[in-house]
Amino acid sequence: MRQLIAGNWKMNCLLQDAVALAQGIAAGADGIAADLLVCPTALHLAAVAQALQGGAVAVGGQDCHQEKQGAHTGDIAAPMLRDAGASWVILGHSERRQNHGETDELIREKTLAAVDAGLTPIVCVGETADQRQGGQETEVVGWQIAGSLPKPFTGAIAYEPIWAIGTGKTATEQDVAMMHAFIREELVRQFGDAGHAIRILYGGSVRAANAASLLAVPNVGGALIGGASLKADEFLAIARAAQPG
Ligand code: PEP
Repeated sequence: MRQLIAGNWKMNCLLQDAVALAQGIAAGADGIAADLLVCPTALHLAAVAQALQGGAVAVGGQDCHQEKQGAHTGDIAAPMLRDAGASWVILGHSERRQNHGETDELIREKTLAAVDAGLTPIVCVGETADQRQGGQETEVVGWQIAGSLPKPFTGAIAYEPIWAIGTGKTATEQDVAMMHAFIREELVRQFGDAGHAIRILYGGSVRAANAASLLAVPNVGGALIGGASLKADEFLAIARAAQPG
């Protein structure tokens, strides 16, 4: 399967910048041997989707509510993301787990809602620095996988060690190899053969300079990129480092 190179734009860009960034990425996407995805803020999703229409770059949301509709002030339902042009959605990002108190159970409900609306979810998991120092990284990630993923699961996982997000501290290739092998084992244990086909993205300070070595690690199915996805050239350089599928 082709690797997926996904940009999480978080709460960045005004509308004009977001559309220009999307156009810059689309302009350089020819010949890239990876699937490309950008996830702007929900407010910009329709405009970005329109700018990318018919091209090779897909659009996703950064979160969705677990209900289809209703009295949930300020929230966004999965069918709304789909209606605005999204085909993917990031769920359970550590910033949402930490800043919005999202639990595995809630993320599982959101994942079901996303799939029901025709979106492909990217479910994020990853340990804190303290958990890693305490040797609990596999236990934590194992619980997150067991709690956040519905059965069956049709989507991708992003392994994002929290201590590596936005810090410039990238996990070593050995760390990534060990955690991705563990996640693969867990997926196969929980989902049988289908677990072999689930893409496991790595996220955490991926840059053009380290992308080739991280993307070459076994069981790495792509990358989820924050800071470096806000510059078209950098994002495209990461995508060019993807392994042919
Ligand atoms: C992220 O927030 O998903 C992320 C990986 O951020 P960064 O690439 O900036 O570390």
